[in-house]
Amino acid sequence: MTRLRGRAAAPGVALAPAALLRPTEVENDDGPSGSPDEERRRVEDALARAAEQLRELAAQVSADVGGDQGDIFEAHAAFAEDPELRARARERIDDGASATAAAAASFDGFRELLAASDSEYLAARAADLDDVRDRVLALLAGRSVDVDVPNERSVIVAHELTPSQTASIPRRVIAAVVTETGSPTSHAAILARSLGIPAVVGVAGIIELLDDGTELAVDGDDGEVLIAPDEETRTAIRERITEAGRRREQLEELRDEPGHTADGHRVELAANIGSETDLELAAAAGAEGSGLVRTEFLYLDRTDAPDIAEQAAFVERALTAFPGHRVVVRTLDVGADKPLPFVAREPEPNPALGLRGIRLGLASPDLFRDQLRALLRARTAAGDAAGRLAIMFPLLSVPSELTEARRHLDEVAAEEGHHLDGLEVGVMIETPAAALAADQFAAGSDFLSIGTNDLLQYLFAADRLNAEVAEIADAASPIVLQLIGEVVRAAHAKGAWVGVCGEAASDPALAVALVGLGVDELSMNSAAIPEVKATLRESTLAHCRAVASRAAEQADAAAARAELKGACSDQEA
Ligand code: PEP
Ligand code: MG
Repeated sequence: MTRLRGRAAAPGVALAPAALLRPTEVENDDGPSGSPDEERRRVEDALARAAEQLRELAAQVSADVGGDQGDIFEAHAAFAEDPELRARARERIDDGASATAAAAASFDGFRELLAASDSEYLAARAADLDDVRDRVLALLAGRSVDVDVPNERSVIVAHELTPSQTASIPRRVIAAVVTETGSPTSHAAILARSLGIPAVVGVAGIIELLDDGTELAVDGDDGEVLIAPDEETRTAIRERITEAGRRREQLEELRDEPGHTADGHRVELAANIGSETDLELAAAAGAEGSGLVRTEFLYLDRTDAPDIAEQAAFVERALTAFPGHRVVVRTLDVGADKPLPFVAREPEPNPALGLRGIRLGLASPDLFRDQLRALLRARTAAGDAAGRLAIMFPLLSVPSELTEARRHLDEVAAEEGHHLDGLEVGVMIETPAAALAADQFAAGSDFLSIGTNDLLQYLFAADRLNAEVAEIADAASPIVLQLIGEVVRAAHAKGAWVGVCGEAASDPALAVALVGLGVDELSMNSAAIPEVKATLRESTLAHCRAVASRAAEQADAAAARAELKGACSDQEA
């Protein structure tokens, strides 16, 4: 039995034989087979057919998975139709290259630009481009890009799994997905999560240790893969799979129940929304509204800003998805790892410490005010039967940013003839400066929402995208728990409620501690809601408080985590 570690990309466990997915072979280039005109036509035809196939795949995925998952392939089709790419291929043919060499070189030129990006998000798009390139090269060679679909349920293992490969293997034969490269933000990982398939990425060197049919145990919760597990481990994994099935059924019964502790202390359990699909997943998971709608996806991957009507239409759909609940829409949070192509900015030496979040909003008031206008119009259009809009500002560090952001909101509301009565305004607590000034932020707002992802990054000076320093920034760290306790105390004293919308909220043991610290709302990815709900319902408020204060007194994160874990299995406070 060999144990390999990777990065957890989609939760769940599986035990099944491996099916190795071979990479598409790139054709040897024997030079042009026809005149430059013929070669040009061949490239044009291959690009056009690739775009057509990708649009068909988009339609099929949208039908199978629902929502906007098919959009990935619409974007791929747009790559194949990119005028710049076609012009580059034509130029190369004019210089004597074959259709194949010209297409490969043009794609690779684009790829280098993306792969060189510091942004994990953009670097992940380089893999998307390879997917389109391989399809075009296969079409030029008269070969199919269809993958060999395994006959039995298998763990699909690939060096790099392209989104189109993931989508073209029927769900029923995929027990899990393992890749040697990739990150949890790659589309293959995103697709695996929405399909409910366990996935581990970044398992370097696994392919050379395997044959087709080698049994694998995949732990998508811990990011671990076991090759040829021994009998004892297989039995343990089977038990986990059975137990997970039983737990799923139990949790399903709680779907429409509200979040509260065993003794009835109310805690709202909301979903984080980052796409249209997330709205459906949230409803299916029984989310009580949304504590964080990340609006960035409306802006990324495009060459101009979305217009007000498009933004308003999405927000209206988000409000309509949660009747009777609150929907916290966060204003644009880009910059750092999520640059906007249409907002021209000088490159920054330290983007994570640069013009991001509310800073970019205040520096680009037209963009910011258009978004506020869209939010207010969506609120009017959705009407009283829909969810209640709340507006939240990201990455504040000084109270004057809140004053400034609110001034824009007041002015836009006046221009729109919109009454702000009943509209809650909140601030994300994501910088140490904001956490320490929580009382001032709470005095100027209705709620604070702690974004633990960024708060940890800035508190520990540990880049949230750098796996090598990830362990330093642990949400269970006693100083983090103490700081959250202080933020809650300061906010409650000013009559503001407090949410947590970073990843920490989705960890059941941490959720218990957060509730013990007085947090009123937890917002998380939808898949985590059922387990957090069940765990809280098994714990009294007194238990949550006792666990939180014991964990906060420990010397370090490891000791605090041990305290939380022990407390979750033993409900006696
Ligand atoms: C956070 O920083 O915790 C947060 C929720 O915001 P994002 O992950 O979108 O930066
Ligand atoms: Mg953040």
